[in-house]
Amino acid sequence: MKYALVTGGSRGIGRAISLKLAEQGYAVLVNYNSNETEAAKTVAAIQLKGGTAQAIRFNVGSKEEVSNALGGWIEANKDKVIEVLVNNAGIRKDNLMMMMPEEEWHSVIQTNLDSFYYITKLILSGMLFQRYGRIINVVSLSGVKGMAGQTNYSASKAGVIAATKSLAQEIGRRGITVNAVAPGFIKTDMTEGISEQQYRNFIPMQRFGEPEEVAEVVSFLASKGASYITGEVMNVNGGLYT
Ligand code: NAP
Repeated sequence: MKYALVTGGSRGIGRAISLKLAEQGYAVLVNYNSNETEAAKTVAAIQLKGGTAQAIRFNVGSKEEVSNALGGWIEANKDKVIEVLVNNAGIRKDNLMMMMPEEEWHSVIQTNLDSFYYITKLILSGMLFQRYGRIINVVSLSGVKGMAGQTNYSASKAGVIAATKSLAQEIGRRGITVNAVAPGFIKTDMTEGISEQQYRNFIPMQRFGEPEEVAEVVSFLASKGASYITGEVMNVNGGLYT
């Protein structure tokens, strides 16, 4: 059975992606950081539909934890292939630049950008060996156009966009595609407290998106049918950025 790893696969957009990839026939490694209950719910929802899933806890921004938990899994499952990697886990700590303490800068860069390096590097050798793979990075509208109050978050996501384009060029000839999906406002815990009423008039589709609407695009990019698409950023934002 082929595996897909979804970081931050336990809640929100990551949960919708995990469910969708399980429907596509992948055994899903559902990563989470602290909320074990939500991770267990996602695993149970996949199993209820006849799919295969397993929760795996590690902090994506910690080199040691990634190496121990994910490296450990790879070492213990040499016969299994991780064919799809979705770098989805992310946090935001919004503040005006003038008010932003160093911790808010570093923790967001560490979780959203450094994680890309730690995890992708570990998974990549298996994909190179198989001469096949799909890497999909969940970025953000903020990383495409920038957003006031989000210099840290925007920098982290823009960094992943540039890394996506660079890595796509490095490994295209090995049958591995690398793409990014950039959501706008999506209804998850991350946007709790942001008023849809207040922002809907700026969005051509006049509403926030659902996690499943992002998962559809990730699912397509993970499919065999997306074999000639690489280095792309696909916006899923209801037309907000035009
Ligand atoms: P969410 O509802 O807050 O869920 C975040 C997920 O990431 C949870 O599964 C969480 O696990 C996990 N996570 C957070 N920090 C982690 C860490 N250090 N290590 C491992 N897992 C970690 O967020 P979301 O809205 O679904 O966002 C998913 C991705 O989409 C993020 O990269 C976000 O930046 C991006 N995005 C979201 C929106 C939006 O409007 N929602 C818009 C643009 C981009 P725990 O519960 O265990 O902490």
